[in-house]
Amino acid sequence: MIMPQDGDRIAQRIEAMLERVNGIKAHEHYYFNQPVTELRGGSRAIVRGREMLMFASYGYLGLLGHPRINSAAKAAIDKYGTGTHGVRLLAGTLDLHIELEAAIASFKHAEDAVCFSSDYVTNLTAISTLVGRNDAVICDKLDHASIVDGCILSGADFLRFRHNDMNDLERVLRKVEPGASKLVVVDAVFSMDGDIIDLPHVARLCREHGAWLMVDEAHSLGMLGKTGRGIEEHFGLGDVVDVKMGTLSKAIPSVGGYVAGKKELIQYIKHVSRAFIFSAALPPAQAAAAKAALEVILDEPDRIEILRRNAAQFIGGLKALGFDTMNTETAIVPVLCGPDERAYEMVRACQRENVFALPVVSPAVPDGTARLRATVTAAHSPDEIEQALAVFESAGRKTGII
Ligand SMILES: *Cc1c(COP(=O)(O)O)cnc(C)c1O
Repeated sequence: MIMPQDGDRIAQRIEAMLERVNGIKAHEHYYFNQPVTELRGGSRAIVRGREMLMFASYGYLGLLGHPRINSAAKAAIDKYGTGTHGVRLLAGTLDLHIELEAAIASFKHAEDAVCFSSDYVTNLTAISTLVGRNDAVICDKLDHASIVDGCILSGADFLRFRHNDMNDLERVLRKVEPGASKLVVVDAVFSMDGDIIDLPHVARLCREHGAWLMVDEAHSLGMLGKTGRGIEEHFGLGDVVDVKMGTLSKAIPSVGGYVAGKKELIQYIKHVSRAFIFSAALPPAQAAAAKAALEVILDEPDRIEILRRNAAQFIGGLKALGFDTMNTETAIVPVLCGPDERAYEMVRACQRENVFALPVVSPAVPDGTARLRATVTAAHSPDEIEQALAVFESAGRKTGII
């Protein structure tokens, strides 16, 4: 039991957060870390002993549990065991890592790639490896927390522009000290709002101002573009992103992050990145699963088309009911609720009817814009989406959102 002394700010911080948590628990609005005990296909799961329709999963293509991916992971365990011997530089590099990196590079139409044990770590290390003191790093206001943390860690001058506002990006680019190197970092698809960065415009501004461009494709790889190759394919652009990074934990059912790009860039990162040098390599099963998943995405392109259809059905249905889904164009569908309390009530009403969706509240989103951040995947059938829409409708009426 911690007993805060006067002036002990660490203890005070802990106490203040636990008070907030206890308040939420007292209102039975505590949805933090509800364990899933069983998967039932890609669209259903057992939570608290009940089968629920899953509308909170990042498994966009429904690949979790895919037999080919599972068997690749099992074969890797049989051959190499469950871990590596630590960092890549010592005995940690397996042929599997080299093969995975080649597969990522090929998938992204890049010269080379490097993988890390998470995308969070990839952002920390990529940004702080590329820029430092006397440089400038420029971000969209809604960029992911891991990008923000990477910028802070880098020690570069950290500037931000209004969300997806190209005039404001131009203003910020002009503001950078002459002579400073510039790196612009954006999300491809924004994780709370589901909208897509105006990449053609960002890329043109970067070229005009001599800035490097890095794009986090956590919610774009496997989703955007006809073959799921991501945001450059989506816009029909060639190779305009210098630092192509993304995660192996969302559409791809594994864990890890990667950077793809020009050969020299990847060689540089491998020799300088502290996460590459000082943190353990991806476990064999996860490396093998990620590689197999990239192959499955190319071999089963229907999944991408189904995902697109499902997203259109789900977004169109919510809008027709009168919900505000903000500017989403993807399978990340915010259902705006307003105050935190109302988002909690909406979640409770949905979960009572066995639809598993979760709230996003402040400070993850601005005050007064609490929402359900629902995600639809290729694993949902049109019927399941209709069932979920019916539950959203009755929950929305009960809580006064529609
Ligand atoms: C989820 C996410 C990450 C973190 O990815 P992990 O592989 O889970 O560490 C980074 N960036 C964005 C935009 C994300 O949505």
